[in-house]
Amino acid sequence: MINQTHTILKNTFGYDNFRPLQEEIINRTIEGKDSFVLMPTGGGKSMCFQIPALIFDGITIVVSPLISLMKDQVQALKSNGIKADFFNSSISAEEENNVITKAINGDLQLLYLSPEKLISVSNTWLKQLNIKLVAIDEAHCVSMWGHDFRPEYTQLKIFRNSLPNVPFMALTATADKSARKDIEAQLGLKKSKLFISSFDRKNLSIEVRGQVQKRKKLQEIANFIERRKNESGIIYCLSRKNTEEVASYLKQEGHSVAFYHAGMDNEERENTQTDFINDETKIIVATIAFGMGIDKSNVRFVIHYNLPKNLEGYYQEIGRAGRDGLPSETVLYFNMRDFVLYSQFADQGANVVMQKEKLSRMLQFAEAKSCRRKILLSYFGEHLSENCGNCDVCENPPKGFDGTILSQKALSGIVRMGEKDGITMLINVLRGSNNADIHEKNYATLKTYGVGKDVSFFDWRDYVIQMANQGLIEIMYAESSALKITSIGWQVLKGDKKIRLTTPVAPADKKKIQKTI
Ligand code: ADP
Ligand code: ZN
Repeated sequence: MINQTHTILKNTFGYDNFRPLQEEIINRTIEGKDSFVLMPTGGGKSMCFQIPALIFDGITIVVSPLISLMKDQVQALKSNGIKADFFNSSISAEEENNVITKAINGDLQLLYLSPEKLISVSNTWLKQLNIKLVAIDEAHCVSMWGHDFRPEYTQLKIFRNSLPNVPFMALTATADKSARKDIEAQLGLKKSKLFISSFDRKNLSIEVRGQVQKRKKLQEIANFIERRKNESGIIYCLSRKNTEEVASYLKQEGHSVAFYHAGMDNEERENTQTDFINDETKIIVATIAFGMGIDKSNVRFVIHYNLPKNLEGYYQEIGRAGRDGLPSETVLYFNMRDFVLYSQFADQGANVVMQKEKLSRMLQFAEAKSCRRKILLSYFGEHLSENCGNCDVCENPPKGFDGTILSQKALSGIVRMGEKDGITMLINVLRGSNNADIHEKNYATLKTYGVGKDVSFFDWRDYVIQMANQGLIEIMYAESSALKITSIGWQVLKGDKKIRLTTPVAPADKKKIQKTI
C-alpha cells in the first residue's frame, strides 16, 4: 500500500515526498475511516482524497461550494491522466447527461459536485454509483459557528447517513475548536481523527498600523509599494468603491494596479485575475471576493486597507502571501470607524452575538500588545511557547509587568466556576459583585470570590483578553463564550510559567491618543 501511494504521488502528480500528515490521512482513508483535515490554504489538502480516489476501484465524490474553481481543478486532474469531472449549475443539460453516463458506467474516478447539486441528485442516479469515498471540501460552511455558513451544507448529513460504510473526509483551512466539534456533528463523522497541520507561516511578517488618516494611509501604501518595485501584492478593502479609489490613486502614482470586486462582470474579473497571475498586473486592490483558490506563489505582500471582520478571514487573506516560503510582508490598517460600521452590519445579520464577539476578537488582535502570531495561532488552537520575533510587537515590545499572580487569580476563578462561564461572570466573581446571577449559582461561596476587588472591571477585561491572546485561555464561542484553560494556562496556574501583562489604556486616554494621531 505504502509503495502504491508513493508511486502515485511520484508518477501521477510528480512529487517526491508527502507533506506532513498527507500520508497518514491517505492510509487511514484507505482503511475506510473518517478524517477531519485542518490544514492552511495551500497546505495540500486535495492530495489527501485524490490519491485514495485513484486507489479505490469506485468513484470518489468531492463536495465543494466553489463552483468557479471546480473546472480548473478538474482540468488539472485530467491533464495528469485522471478520470475526473464536475457537476454544477454552470454546465449545460447535454454536458450533464454526459457526466451522468460516465459516472454510471464507472468511467470516473473523481466527481466534483456543488452541495446543491449533490442534494438534488442524491436520490436519483447518484444511488447507482459505486461510491468509495466522500470528501467535503470547505467543510466549515456546514457550521453556524464558522464564518461562511451555507444552509445547503446542513443537508449533507442525510447523504452521510445513506452511506454509513463509506469513509468521509471533512477538509477546511479554517475552524476553531467550537466550529470543529460542530462540523463533526453536522456531518455525522464517525470516530473521525483530527489531522491538524501547523498554521504557522513563519515567512510572513505581521504588522498592524492603527488610526491612520485616509490621506496618510494612501501615501504610506504608495511608499510601501515604491520600495518594493515589481513585486506582487494584494490590497484588501472593505467596499467596492474603496477598491476603485485606492487603485486609481496608486495608478496615478505610476504603479501597475488593477481593482477587483464582485460588481464586475465575469469576463472583466477573469481577465484581471489572469493578468495578476501572469505578473502583467503587479498589484490587485480587491474586496475579499478575490483570492479564493488563486494559486499564485510569489505574492510578496498583503495589505488590509480596512479591518477584517474576523480572524479567520484575516488569516486566510494574509495566507495568500508567500506561498513559496520566501519572506513576505503583511500590514493591517485599522481604525475604530471600520469596527463601528461592522458592528452595525452585524446587527442586521444572523448570529449577531457570535459575529460581534468574533469582531471584537479581531479588534483585540489589532490593539494587542503581545506577540501577534501567538494570538493568531492560539485562536486556531495552536499554542506557541515562544514569541515569534517576526511581528511589530516582537520588534517593539512594550514594557509590561509580571502579571503571574493576577493571571493565577483569574485562572483559578475559571477552574472553580467549572469552565462554564464567560468573561463578565468571571470578572463579577473576581470583583465580589453582588448580583442575582452570582447568588443563584452559589459563586459567592467560592474561594476566588472577591480576590480581585482592587482591579476595575475595565482593567480585568483587558487582562483576561491579554491572557486569551497569550494562549492561557480559550474563548469557546459555540458554548456561550465560556472560558477554558489551555495547557499553557495550567502551567501558569501551577506556577511553572510566568506571564507578563501590560497596563490597560483607559477608553478616555484612547480617545486622546486618537486625536493626537
Ligand atoms: P489546499 O487545498 O490545502 O489549499 P492544494 O491541495 O491546492 O492545497 O495544494 C497546494 C499546492 O501544493 C498544489 O499546487 C499542490 O499540487 C501542491 N502539493 C500538494 N501536495 C504536495 C506534495 N506532497 N509535494 C509537493 N507539492 C504538493
Ligand atoms: Zn511576534
